[in-house]
Amino acid sequence: MKALLYNITPEQMPHVQSWRKHHPDDEIETTEDILDAQTVTQAQGFDVASVMQVVDIADEAVYQKLADYGIKHLALRSVGYNIVNWKYVHKYHMLITTTPAYSPRAIAENALTSAMFLLRNWGQIFQNEQKLNFVREPNLMSDEIYNQTVGIIGVGRIGSAVAEMFHALGAKVIAYDVVENAANEAFVEYTDFDTVIKEADILTLHTPLDPGMENMISSEQFKQMKNSALVINQARGPLINTVDLIDALKQGEIAGAALDVLTEENEFFEKQFTDMSELPETYQELAKMPNVVITPHSAYYTKTSVKNMIEHSLIDMKRVYEGKKPVYPVNL
Ligand code: NAD
Repeated sequence: MKALLYNITPEQMPHVQSWRKHHPDDEIETTEDILDAQTVTQAQGFDVASVMQVVDIADEAVYQKLADYGIKHLALRSVGYNIVNWKYVHKYHMLITTTPAYSPRAIAENALTSAMFLLRNWGQIFQNEQKLNFVREPNLMSDEIYNQTVGIIGVGRIGSAVAEMFHALGAKVIAYDVVENAANEAFVEYTDFDTVIKEADILTLHTPLDPGMENMISSEQFKQMKNSALVINQARGPLINTVDLIDALKQGEIAGAALDVLTEENEFFEKQFTDMSELPETYQELAKMPNVVITPHSAYYTKTSVKNMIEHSLIDMKRVYEGKKPVYPVNL
């Protein structure tokens, strides 16, 4: 098998080298580039290409060139698959695989970290400390997790790990999912979407971003939420309307937000800036708020995840190359 792995970073290399060592017949090449209309030419001569990027693969030329090179499998080293353009995937008969099981716990633990950060007002505490203010002000008094109702939208691999963790800490866990899973009933009370929105002290999203799911949480939902509610989005940015979120935070309709993903993330995640004015206006607004924490799509970023992303994607690349059914196909 000849595979080209795009967007390989130094910490992924040991796992690539380990694969090379154990599979000497495979030719695995890497590049730090993301896949786009320019870099697609590097894939010529390979059997399969693999990517892990936040930037959408929107250009038809990418799919067309991959097809011209005889590449019929694009292996995403991620859980989400919204970066591909499905029209072109279908047009050029491309197989998409993902790595959904690399570590649901990594994201779940980040949701827990986010909830505790917001609940304990650490954003405000850090901001005060930067102003050399060490007074234990009344607005820093927090709640305790076992008194909270955690509302989850989407109880799949990640959502169920989130539910299990909060339940273990004594929180009440309510959830909405289009498909209810009896295996989760030991730690989740399923209910309808509106009830989760109205009753959650901590609302956390763990659905995919499928067509029609954009703006799932917008001003209508913020108005229904408790004024003390904390909102966590580690799923996909467009599930929340960012402008409405900023408005809700300013109006005090909700109390805080932790965002690992944002609609605008393509413009600034994975890049470094020297001046705030270069960043999207929505980010500039959010960055001023002590009750908002933004992380650069790093919820997944643990040693376990990085290792499994490489291994799981290479296993499926090899299976497809050998004519076997992949373990994690999106569109078979
Ligand atoms: P999953 O497929 O196992 O679970 C998704 C769940 O959402 C399923 O139970 C599904 O029935 C449910 N769902 C789908 N549409 C819904 C809707 N309209 N309303 C309510 N529920 C709905 O996926 P997962 O592995 O748990 O991952 C969830 C999402 O997390 C991914 O799609 C990805 O976007 C995101 N993610 C983010 C990071 C990160 O680093 N921030 C890392 C991995 C995954």
